[in-house]
Amino acid sequence: PSSKLPQVGTTIFTTIGQLAQEHNAINLSQGFPNFNPDPKLLELVGESFKKGHNQYAPMQGVLSLREAISEKTEHLYGHFYRPESEITVTAGATQAIFTTIAAFVRQNDEVIVIEPAFDCYEPAITLFGGKSIPVVLEGNDFKMNWSAFKSAISPKTKMVIINNPHNPTGTIWSKSDMVQLQDILRDTNIILLSDEVYEHIVFDGKPHQSVAKYPDLAARAVICSSFGKTFHATGWKMGYCVAPKPLMQEFQKVHQFNVFSVNHAMQVALAQYVKDPKHYVNLGSFYQEKRDVFLKGIKGSRFKMIPSGGTYFQLLEYSDITDEKDTVFAERLIKQHKLASIPVSVFCKADYDQKFLRFCFAKTNDVLDKACQILNSI
Ligand code: GLN
Repeated sequence: PSSKLPQVGTTIFTTIGQLAQEHNAINLSQGFPNFNPDPKLLELVGESFKKGHNQYAPMQGVLSLREAISEKTEHLYGHFYRPESEITVTAGATQAIFTTIAAFVRQNDEVIVIEPAFDCYEPAITLFGGKSIPVVLEGNDFKMNWSAFKSAISPKTKMVIINNPHNPTGTIWSKSDMVQLQDILRDTNIILLSDEVYEHIVFDGKPHQSVAKYPDLAARAVICSSFGKTFHATGWKMGYCVAPKPLMQEFQKVHQFNVFSVNHAMQVALAQYVKDPKHYVNLGSFYQEKRDVFLKGIKGSRFKMIPSGGTYFQLLEYSDITDEKDTVFAERLIKQHKLASIPVSVFCKADYDQKFLRFCFAKTNDVLDKACQILNSI
């Protein structure tokens, strides 16, 4: 059959993960912790299954979990989302993102994507007949060029996808970025899809600039988040999104026929766990320590970097080491040096000739130390 996605191969996370395994490499490629969630959460999950929450959950998600999400969002960002009509629990943030795109993007709509961009946005846009319009982050510090963003908007622009804290660059947006975004989108009907899965992983005392803090933005936005990232449980595929009722209604029209509902017992356990802010407020300092172990460990290396401002990723620039393209160098690092990372060019549709690899530092210190030894030897 003719492919609906002729340009799409297997996601980089699968191909690099397999290559890393084949070569027995230390795997700092796909973003996931190599340690377990809090035993308390695991206990709640076990109990929840035993208590018998083993049949379908409500389509939107378990009410107590939606209430907990509503409270958390209001407490952190000052915006109240109604549990009964403005929140949906999803099978990870990727499903929330896909479903949002499915619900709103039509044939020939344009969707602005800020590149480098996480790899799930573009195929979903294409699948529903839309066209992604890349706006490229600039320089070694991946600054947002707001005038380029403004010029990318056309009468066909249906949606803008943003991701803050940003995967893969580890940059975060300031208040001024948010205000510029708000000013540019004012008086348009553009829907904002805000991928905030790393909302709790922000460093150096900076606040997370959630779209939920900006009423004019929140009014047009679907905000997606992830329990996997926040509670060290990426394999559970549990996430959620919040949006004003008219947007959420359209989201749920698709969601109900996409997954109907997601893991019931997990939701009951998460509802209890999310209620306590202790379970997420220290995540930033937890990962900041790991970032610093990694950065200190490679001080003697020939890689250059700007410390990550958020997420559990660090970019390293390697132009002092080789002229190889990032995909070639990443493959050689796995095969020859037994260390896996992600080449940043795979996150770009626009031409890309910078020399960056992305490393995930959500790992125990022994693994980080070994990775640093390798990086120092290159
Ligand atoms: N978010 C993870 C990363 O960037 C990958 C998730 C996935 O493989 N879909 O590494």
